[in-house]
Amino acid sequence: MISKKMVGLVKGSSVIRAMFEEGKKMAQMYGAENVFDFSLGNPNVPAPQAVNDNIVKIVQEENSVVLHGYMSNVGFEDVRDAIAKSLNKRFDLDLEAKNIVMTVGAAGGLNVIFKTLLDPNDEVITFAPFFGEYKNYVSNFDANLVVVNPNPPTFEPDYVDFEKKISEKTKAVLVNNPNNPTGIIYKKEWIEKIASILEKKQKEYGTSIYLISDEPYRELVYGGEEVPYLTKYYRNTIVGYSYSKSLSLPGERIGYLVIPTQIDDYEDVFAAAGVATRILGFVNAPSLQQKLIKECLDEKTNIEAYNKNRIRLYEGLQECGFECVKPEGAFYLFMKAPIEDDSEFVKVAKEYNLLLVPASSFGVKGYVRIAYCVSYDTIERSMTAFRKLAQRYGLIK
Ligand code: PLP
Repeated sequence: MISKKMVGLVKGSSVIRAMFEEGKKMAQMYGAENVFDFSLGNPNVPAPQAVNDNIVKIVQEENSVVLHGYMSNVGFEDVRDAIAKSLNKRFDLDLEAKNIVMTVGAAGGLNVIFKTLLDPNDEVITFAPFFGEYKNYVSNFDANLVVVNPNPPTFEPDYVDFEKKISEKTKAVLVNNPNNPTGIIYKKEWIEKIASILEKKQKEYGTSIYLISDEPYRELVYGGEEVPYLTKYYRNTIVGYSYSKSLSLPGERIGYLVIPTQIDDYEDVFAAAGVATRILGFVNAPSLQQKLIKECLDEKTNIEAYNKNRIRLYEGLQECGFECVKPEGAFYLFMKAPIEDDSEFVKVAKEYNLLLVPASSFGVKGYVRIAYCVSYDTIERSMTAFRKLAQRYGLIK
């Protein structure tokens, strides 16, 4: 018998993953070129050449016992030092190796920091729409995810609802910037408002409320918009980063947490994060990937490929009469369903071989998410299907 808790989790298991599996089946039935699978955020842009070159170089040149061996649970010191220096240069910060914990991607990092901070029945606040896995990550530690109401069509946080939902039980607030699923960027002014509410509430309750910034899409930004570095706006900030999207390495599982010295109880938090890394069973982040990252700190993905997709998709959907949130970052487009029931709309879209994700998986109703990390050709060819879908709802003739 599996645990009662897992029974519920398996039942509610990711709609997105189920769709991905369905997409593979449909491709077999109709031919891959006739199925438009926009379900999963799996980068289609290959990792930069330097990634493969450096893997070979590291394997050939590094001491094999050190390279493949155990290390400190928080990761190799030289790698953490290099990451800290790179962040200092980019964002004018003051970090050292002692502020970096290497993690098994963003998912690993969030689980490590939640294990570090959360007691049962503590609360973590996030803003709708949000990455659906957050609920599971928080429930792993018997804490509760509290969701701030969505604020369409801009999806700027609803500050009044946010303030109302902060309580003595609030241990952390989780923001995701650039955002999955909306593709919007949380602007500097938005962050300032969040920070000032948190400062006020920390004083009111005499507690520490940590702001956790989940940033796997930090490098995927179009049109020069600035993604604020949150440690500059709020003292108790912890940042989670991942190379899954920025270097197209989601299967390799590598990222890091930034735990600044300035946060409340820094020494305890950092030490506990190392222990959490070990006892969650990660032990440490993959060693070869850590060494790789050190060599690839200045490497960039082909952002232009995503940008071309973004523009074609956004303009094409608007021509079809669909209402869309203009994507500013990540590789998702958030589109309003022409009917209230987004799951029903997704079912109808499937009749045209369009695989979209209902926004109810992200805590919002009436929208769908379209992941445009696919080939340009797929976007181009999907337009006929989108046009037919729009005609079905009378959006165009
Ligand atoms: N956070 C968000 C917002 C994501 O979209 C994802 C993956 O899609 C993750 C975290 C997990 O990323 P990783 O592969 O780095 O664990």
